Amino acid sequence: MTTIPRPRLLRELNTSERLQTLRRSRAAGHLPYFRSAESLLGPEVVMEGVSRVMLGSPNYLGFADHPAVMGGARAALDEYGTSLTGSRILNGSTRLHHELEAEIADWHGTEGALVFTTGYQTNLGTVSALVGPGDTVVADAYAHASLHDGARLSGAKVRGFRHNRLDLFEDTLRRAARDGGRILVLLDGIYSMEGDLNPLDEMIPMCREHDAAVMLDEAHSVGVLGERGTGAAELFALEDEIDVRMGALSKALSSVGGYIAGDSELLDYLRVNSRAFVFTTVGVPAAMGAALAAIRLRRTQEGAERVESLRRHSRYLRAGLEEQGFELGPTSDDWDRTSPIISVFMGDSDLAMMWWKELYDRKVFVGVALHPGVPHCGALLRVCPMATHEQAHIDYALDVFGLVGQLLSKSVRA
Ligand code: PMP
Repeated sequence: MTTIPRPRLLRELNTSERLQTLRRSRAAGHLPYFRSAESLLGPEVVMEGVSRVMLGSPNYLGFADHPAVMGGARAALDEYGTSLTGSRILNGSTRLHHELEAEIADWHGTEGALVFTTGYQTNLGTVSALVGPGDTVVADAYAHASLHDGARLSGAKVRGFRHNRLDLFEDTLRRAARDGGRILVLLDGIYSMEGDLNPLDEMIPMCREHDAAVMLDEAHSVGVLGERGTGAAELFALEDEIDVRMGALSKALSSVGGYIAGDSELLDYLRVNSRAFVFTTVGVPAAMGAALAAIRLRRTQEGAERVESLRRHSRYLRAGLEEQGFELGPTSDDWDRTSPIISVFMGDSDLAMMWWKELYDRKVFVGVALHPGVPHCGALLRVCPMATHEQAHIDYALDVFGLVGQLLSKSVRA
């Protein structure tokens, strides 16, 4: 039998630097990705047969194994089955979706909300629907990849500026105004890798000055920031000033999906113009049921108490790592601005993976961000406590960090 030669496209895949890194670290046994969990997502998770302290998940409020949230998923599965097998626009809208959207709108104090299948699609589909050739997008360099991808897809001119640099932001806005088209500014409430907040109170007035619309990605801030828990816009009392409010159901709300909260004109526009909304299958009923239960839970006293616990753990863990001399991402002294993401800078990708493996072997699981998730030589460990961790978990993790620090090169210390 003659073998069919592989086409050039496939023959050349192995020239990819990322593919080579993946294979190299997999062969060395320190690949931090694609590890499987074998138990519920809680403060400890069994991975590869061993229970490990889970500090690598944005399950910030510990809702993923909460009986009420699991019950919401189960009831939705029982009522609507496994999948709706179609898009929202045709056969994928149920009473449950409308109830979830009404709950989000009531929570945010907006006219309505529109739920997408994932947070990624929410950003991709919203940005690419709102702007097009002739318009300008102004984006923080560290805004989420899905916002940048949406901007690229839209055909608008894209002007980036260095992360959170107000001087460069203002300058970029001036240039954008000279482009002559409409302007859309893309920002995150909490930046997903560095864990720092956006200085919205300073940025928003600049946007107003240049007639720029603002879209805020609250993926990591929803459930976590603001008295009601709706995110950074609420925390900064700028809810009316954010033109497009995006949230994810996949982090603190422990489900899958994303949404835009806003007025009915914006939502109706997206209903018929956003291709990532129109041409995809809606999230499974269990995901919608879990999200609805999670939002309702966040709005109770128990939800508020979980936020306090999350903040206590975040502060304590951060202080402990700082004391050990690690270089960490920026932070605020303000309790209400406590970020649940603590970034430990490593710089070199191989070093970050080595650290990850040493921590993992000592039963501590953290996230690792490598290029292109972060800039070249900007590799970092992403450490996220959960509200449901016990003090002993955090102390244990700090001890392990100290131990691994003694074992490995001191070069990452500030
Ligand atoms: N925005 C931000 C800031 C994110 O961190 C993520 C997920 N990593 C997304 C959007 C995409 O959300 P999802 O995972 O729900 O698709």
